[in-house]
Amino acid sequence: MGYNLTWKIIKEHLVEGDMIPGAEIGIRIDQTLTQDSTGTMAYLQLEAMEIDRVKTKKSVAYIDHNMLQQGFENADDHKYIQTVAHKHGVYFSRPGNGICHQVHLERFGVPGETLLGSDSHTPTGGGIGMLAIGAGGLDVAVAMGGGTYYITMPKVVNVKLTGKLRPFVTAKDIILEVLRVMSVKGGVGKVIEYTGEGVATLSVPERATITNMGAELGATTSVFQSDDVTKAFLEAQDRVDQWQPLQADEDAAYDESIEIDLSQLEPLVAQPHSPDNVEKVSNVKDLKVHQVCIGSCTNSSYLDMMKVAKILKGNVVHPDVSLVIAPGSKQVLNMLAANGALADMIAAGARILESGCGPCIGMGQAPATDAVTLRTFNRNFKGRCGTGSAGAYLLSPETAAVSALTGKLTNPMTCEADIDVVMPEKFFINDNMVVAPAEDGSQVEVVKGPNIKPFPLNEALQDHVAGKVLIVVEDNITTDHIMPSNAKLLPFRSNIPHLANFCLTPCDEDFPSRAKENKGGFILGGDNYGQGSSREHAALVPLYLGVKAVLTKSFARIHKANLVNSGILPLTFENSGDYDHISLDDELVMDHLLEQVKTGKVKVLNKTKDVTYDMSIDLSDKELKIILEGGKINFIKNA
Ligand code: SF4
Repeated sequence: MGYNLTWKIIKEHLVEGDMIPGAEIGIRIDQTLTQDSTGTMAYLQLEAMEIDRVKTKKSVAYIDHNMLQQGFENADDHKYIQTVAHKHGVYFSRPGNGICHQVHLERFGVPGETLLGSDSHTPTGGGIGMLAIGAGGLDVAVAMGGGTYYITMPKVVNVKLTGKLRPFVTAKDIILEVLRVMSVKGGVGKVIEYTGEGVATLSVPERATITNMGAELGATTSVFQSDDVTKAFLEAQDRVDQWQPLQADEDAAYDESIEIDLSQLEPLVAQPHSPDNVEKVSNVKDLKVHQVCIGSCTNSSYLDMMKVAKILKGNVVHPDVSLVIAPGSKQVLNMLAANGALADMIAAGARILESGCGPCIGMGQAPATDAVTLRTFNRNFKGRCGTGSAGAYLLSPETAAVSALTGKLTNPMTCEADIDVVMPEKFFINDNMVVAPAEDGSQVEVVKGPNIKPFPLNEALQDHVAGKVLIVVEDNITTDHIMPSNAKLLPFRSNIPHLANFCLTPCDEDFPSRAKENKGGFILGGDNYGQGSSREHAALVPLYLGVKAVLTKSFARIHKANLVNSGILPLTFENSGDYDHISLDDELVMDHLLEQVKTGKVKVLNKTKDVTYDMSIDLSDKELKIILEGGKINFIKNA
């Protein structure tokens, strides 16, 4: 049996372990990326580990999330990241240069290399043939220092694409179809590898739309081959010297397979409030639209924007609709400005935003109460857009643009505009917003304003842990619930004590004060706890509040890793029915923990109800050591 592409890249980077699905492996990381929201913590951790100079082939720090400067906080963070990057050997992408994943694809991504990013949509890099994985900031800091990155060897799912998309059916519709079939939990522990003759019909940015939203499947990552299409993209980016051909062996083995006939697809939409709540656009009748947002790391490439401009050209945005457009990078924005497409958008009434995450992360442009907002983004969890009562629908740029004109959700196949756009032979290349690191960082002063607070550190695991259940939450709690991320809070990403006042408040407003009064305790969660982003703060803030363990039916992968890194026990019920028998304020006790965690089983006594629960703690050897030390920083410092 031959190798699939995922296996080939992993084998090339394998440092430790055997490539057996489910086993822990260590891989070498070639590149890292951070964004400002998670980056401040990652660099504080890099400093805490006393790493002078990064050891990766390339590390890039982006500013794209917290771009509004309504106070000093965000600007302080930007300054800190700029100076710490300069000192430690990290490239710095200035605010305005674009969204990390879009810019990384354009200017830094290299087929066959590994990329670790402190952002859950890092798998976007799979569009150019990278093994690109989202992780917590601490893992990224360790990788920057040359440390091995540990993952569970994934299963590999082959999504075979046959046929060719019809006009107005897009890459977004492909990934929405995959989400419909696999669901938001369907990719956990898996890499999604796209093969088949349909792959050659997709450009690199289209492939990147698909790999980007593989994060919504819960997948470790997604990957496409590196072929002539990839070569042409790199040629157009003046980086063809970084191209190499890569594909699976003809007789490659896969753990699972799905086939999608592209010619049978039609425009799809993910309805509120989950990316897998997918329906055909043509089946959603009479949905009046109030806001349309086009952009994000999923859909803001040059090709996406040009198609939108062509649909808007000569038309006017419906009077009841606010249309906002954020081109994904300075490169894209510059090209639209130069070729007149930007003028077409403005003339139609679009509100043009700077190249950044913006409304995707609730950083401005919150819709009105109860509004329907159509978004080309990747997530539509309740409240993420900044308005709790709004309903967010995820769809393609084409569907979004056509609907912005009609004022209701509209199948773009009814549109008569000519949206044929060819990939340019040369992109507009100007890297003047990327600052190279200092050759010698020893003299560079790192600037830390008052918004930069130290991160919390845990203590080594105690043998006896007791406390109250501080909150009971349901299934599918996201990191947005655990640590809300809105325009008011984003400026405080480097200020854990302030953020702690908002932890889990979308579920229970009293949780922070209850946690403080009780000096910590336990969180009780349902299935898929911690799904969503790689937000490390969703573990750091509970740590600050004294949370000792999270008890759930199951965890989302990255969040579980972040809990381990913070020294918080991630426990799952052996009998998920036990969840129903635990109440708020129940007193829980765990004894002989130092021995128990080594066995992978932990008995939890509910003193209030006088019942003992059997729980699992599924840790690799490495994770066990980290838990025993009370978190990864302690582990690395004590190594
Ligand atoms: Fe930015 Fe949204 Fe992409 Fe996250 S998902 S990187 S917030 S554009």
